[in-house]
Amino acid sequence: MSIQIKQVSKFYGSQKALDSVSFDVSKGEILGFLGPNGAGKSTMMKIITTYIPPSEGSVSVCGFDTATHSMDVRRRVGYLPEHNPLYLDMYVREYLGFIAGLHGIKHPQQRIKTMIEQTGLGLEQNKKIGALSKGYRQRVGLAQALIHDPEVLILDEPTSGLDPNQLADIRALIREVGKEKTLMFSTHIMQEVEAVCDRVIIIDTGKIVLDGKANELGQKSSKGYRILVEFDREISRGSLQAIAGVMKVTRLEGQQWELYSEQSSDIRPEIFKFAVEQQLTVLTINRIEQDLESIFRQLTAKK
Ligand code: ADP
Ligand code: MG
Repeated sequence: MSIQIKQVSKFYGSQKALDSVSFDVSKGEILGFLGPNGAGKSTMMKIITTYIPPSEGSVSVCGFDTATHSMDVRRRVGYLPEHNPLYLDMYVREYLGFIAGLHGIKHPQQRIKTMIEQTGLGLEQNKKIGALSKGYRQRVGLAQALIHDPEVLILDEPTSGLDPNQLADIRALIREVGKEKTLMFSTHIMQEVEAVCDRVIIIDTGKIVLDGKANELGQKSSKGYRILVEFDREISRGSLQAIAGVMKVTRLEGQQWELYSEQSSDIRPEIFKFAVEQQLTVLTINRIEQDLESIFRQLTAKK
């Protein structure tokens, strides 16, 4: 087992950021750690990487307890923190040399060269980090996390803030390194999980609400679907909530709404009836069957 988490809780003052969380990650697994903002993802990752201690419970990485063997854990873990804290005034090669030094790597120049190749930093290697785009900074962050060839890689929202091209590149890189390592990465983007992971854990307000194989999630959760609907004018959330069969309502943008239903029957006729009663025009309506996004909404949407 690469990571073992036993009944971990974390309090910040009186606030409970993690509430008795337990799970294991097997060697070689790619785990997507999914949850809305404030769910506790970064807190869990900081605990696994020994940057903060749990308030209760225990964590071990490659068999080493984070509380008693933090150096053994750090040697085996590569970590890309959420707000990738790079030294913007350093040159890429200089920075990687600095990190290699911290890890006491034997032939640093050789290793830096390999990392630059693997993360596609060739053209940028002689630039200052501050001069790089966000996508290339993330590559530097990944090179930093991988330089000591750790068994376990923890990436906290590695794709946040990237444009679509950068996103595709970084995802491909993550998939590539995930072939050889145990990898846990957090995200609040559902599609990302479907694109990259073997397994998904969804966490909400400090608790695990779903843990399963990425391709079996549909069967694991209860039935349900989403309806995306757009009206021609303003309407209150409450009136949508009152439609028979609607469980949850999320406003997307403008007059676009997402309605979540757990009915087995189709509630679209109800929505049309409602629109007629309210003298609204339905501009678009779409039913989307149980996908990961529906499951996520169902499990994490505030009632
Ligand atoms: P996520 O990464 O899923 O967005 P976090 O782990 O960052 O969530 O935060 C979980 C909860 O703990 C949030 O409510 C957040 O405000 C709170 N929190 C995180 N770090 C601190 C801190 N250093 N001090 C106080 N509260 C914190
Ligand atoms: Mg976070």
